[in-house]
Amino acid sequence: MTDAGRKLRVVILGGGHGGLSVARALTKSGLADVKLVDGKGFFEINWATVRAPVEPDIGTSCIVDYADLIDSASFVRATVTAISSDKVVLNNGQSLPYDLAVFAVGTKHRDKFIQTGKGTAADRRRTFQDARKQLEAAKTVLFVGGGPVGVEMAAEIATAMPGKTVVLATSADRLLADQPKSLSASAAKALKQYGVKVYLNEKVKEVQGGTGKFTLQSAGTEVQADLVYWCVGATAHTDWLKSSHPDVCNERGLIKVDEYLRVKGHPNWFALGDCADLPETKLGYQAARQGLEVAQSIKAVIQQGPETARLTRHKPYTGMQAMILTLGKNNGAMHIAGWWVPWFLPTFLKSKDLFVKKTRHELGLSAPS
Ligand SMILES: Cc1cc2nc3c(=O)[nH]c(=O)nc-3n(C[C@H](O)[C@H](O)[C@H](O)COP(=O)(O)OP(=O)(O)OC[C@H]3O[C@@H](n4cnc5c(N)ncnc54)[C@H](O)[C@@H]3O)c2cc1C
Repeated sequence: MTDAGRKLRVVILGGGHGGLSVARALTKSGLADVKLVDGKGFFEINWATVRAPVEPDIGTSCIVDYADLIDSASFVRATVTAISSDKVVLNNGQSLPYDLAVFAVGTKHRDKFIQTGKGTAADRRRTFQDARKQLEAAKTVLFVGGGPVGVEMAAEIATAMPGKTVVLATSADRLLADQPKSLSASAAKALKQYGVKVYLNEKVKEVQGGTGKFTLQSAGTEVQADLVYWCVGATAHTDWLKSSHPDVCNERGLIKVDEYLRVKGHPNWFALGDCADLPETKLGYQAARQGLEVAQSIKAVIQQGPETARLTRHKPYTGMQAMILTLGKNNGAMHIAGWWVPWFLPTFLKSKDLFVKKTRHELGLSAPS
């Protein structure tokens, strides 16, 4: 309770893996007045989205209304447009007063299929169904970007619909440029086997005035694609914050935090997940783990007082670094703690159901039907 005899007001900006984890831990404790704010009305198990164009029904299990995850009084559907020292301003003209704020706004992707910050669960499921229709009508599908999302989606389409021409172009000199070379080699081998045409060291530019035409800049090749997925690097979702608080973000727009995940210079703000300036790889399970650390610190602030609270120091993940890549439903590649692992293990672990069952279980939801 505050001096005014009310619960501490905690506003959480963004309901992805990180923000949801803070919100669920705090609402469960009953200690704070929690408001989770997100522009969309649903949580998405986004590692399953790569299969959605070929299996749109996956939307029934990987899209979950926030109402099924936290009590409805704790969720506010709106986009945050500004923040001051005691309130956040929303795009619906309202503002929310707060005592503590948690930034969990993630990163923004150019392609609205890969990630959206708007709409209802029904809208998103419709997007998946429409993507399937577009795919059925398309002869050539172009992926721009050779990171995990581009590679996994290209593999999904090439294996599920072998009649399509699938092209992937990346400006890097190998697929999965941030990952170990053995993983790149496995991905390249699989895509070749599936007939995907891969261009390396290529920038892609849309032809001015052309419909669905793209030039691969260094080769000068023109690709006429009926469907294009932009799977290029994502940037932090902090443009709105940078304009009012330029001191808070680094040059890449990531929010600078101290060892307790508090925003530097703002002791009543925390930041975590993809939008935070942390050395760890940007992954969903890291964001969720950081969310639990922040929830723990907020509980300490409430129970011990802001001046004397023993905050939880952020522990960078030092466990085994594992990267599991799906290469269609019946193939995969994995690298764990510097070791390459045979294809059948990642296939068994991830490729079959893209961790949907496991993630739903962690969220306390029933297994997908
Ligand atoms: C296609 C795909 C596949 C992936 N595969 C894997 C994988 O296999 N394993 C893995 O660990 N990670 C994977 N990732 C990465 C993982 O999803 C991210 O690391 C994780 O989502 C980060 O969580 P977050 O909470 O920081 O941000 P996000 O999950 O991006 O959530 C941010 C939330 O903030 C909301 N938001 C943004 N701005 C505002 C605003 N101004 N006002 C209100 N709300 C706002 C957004 O709508 C969103 O819900 C994948 C990502 C993608 C896109």
